Amino acid sequence: MKIQMVDMLRGYRPIQKETEEAIKRVLEKAHFILGEDVAEFEKEFSAFTGARHAVSVASGTDALRLAILACGIKEGDEVITTPFTFIATSETISQAGAKVVFADILNDGIYNIDPASIEKKITAKTRAIIPVHLYGHPADMNSIMKIAKKHNLKVIEDCAQSFTGKYKYNGEWKQLGTIGDCGTFSFFPAKNLGAFGDGGLITTNDDKIAQTIKTLRNHGSSQRYLYEMEGFNSRLDTIQAAILRIRLKHVAKWTEMRNEVMNKYNKALRDVCAVPVVKDGCYHSCNYYTIRFSSKEERDFVQQHLNKKEIANQIYYPICLHLQKAYEKLGYKKGDLPVCETVQDQVLSLPMYPELSDEEINEITAQVKEAVNSFRKARV
Ligand SMILES: *Cc1c(COP(=O)(O)O)cnc(C)c1O
Repeated sequence: MKIQMVDMLRGYRPIQKETEEAIKRVLEKAHFILGEDVAEFEKEFSAFTGARHAVSVASGTDALRLAILACGIKEGDEVITTPFTFIATSETISQAGAKVVFADILNDGIYNIDPASIEKKITAKTRAIIPVHLYGHPADMNSIMKIAKKHNLKVIEDCAQSFTGKYKYNGEWKQLGTIGDCGTFSFFPAKNLGAFGDGGLITTNDDKIAQTIKTLRNHGSSQRYLYEMEGFNSRLDTIQAAILRIRLKHVAKWTEMRNEVMNKYNKALRDVCAVPVVKDGCYHSCNYYTIRFSSKEERDFVQQHLNKKEIANQIYYPICLHLQKAYEKLGYKKGDLPVCETVQDQVLSLPMYPELSDEEINEITAQVKEAVNSFRKARV
């Protein structure tokens, strides 16, 4: 049975008519740049998350870029982040002129940045921490915020994979992206709230940061042909905003469905591999479903078996960023960040989307189990 990683059309069919009408409405109005739907979407996103401001931009990468700049990060500064993430998290730090400092992840089944490792990396030049809520599970924000307050650091939450995820912060449930100084979101099609193209957004409770991002996304201009600074062309298309407004109404239910898929997977697989755990005080957005094996050999064997059966799978992420050629200049070597270096060889992500059927889940888990059993049998 051929199974894809993500099937966007299944979620699209029930809202197809409504979506096509919204697109048509934008075409008829012909206000494609910063049109009405952009402002309305921002208002609705802000209401959903409880953040004071929501400022949309052209992508999740630009959301990081503009948040970093609006937080005042510049040449000579250091920013601490995880190497077990997509390169957008770190390249935007370097592109602001700052130095990327990689901390290790925790070995607790969650794969997020280790607060103790962050503390060890703090110097007089450190200005910010960028935790990533990887796969959709919250990072340890209580500890991270304590460290940030103690050392007067900004916190930018990379929420590209974690929209709709929640965290109990100081005893109060909060949407991810509303705990630090900024939260950055991606509307890349495969994310929890996917557009039909690129898109991104920044949440913040800080009026000044919000205003700076609004200016930066539009060439440093908040009034036509008056430039307060140099900026970027980084706006969310009105068409995408109109599409996202419809999808936003369904996204909480979609995440519930993703959680059900995760629970079914977990039940079937917990005896053969490490399955995702959800910590107390956390609500998982389940953007990716990632399991872990006891060795690279076993992981690779399972992967090859799934490939043969045409069951899509991915390794998020096969080589930690500190060991990539792009970061050779930073001088890290193998063994510097042992937890993420071990994890990169053992993880495997399986198809995950709200409408994944029981039949498909049964087929996928049966094939994983068959692969694990034949791998282990061959080795006794
Ligand atoms: C997807 C992703 C991004 C980048 O988002 P784009 O919209 O593709 O630019 C950044 N960080 C993480 C962790 C991501 O998964």
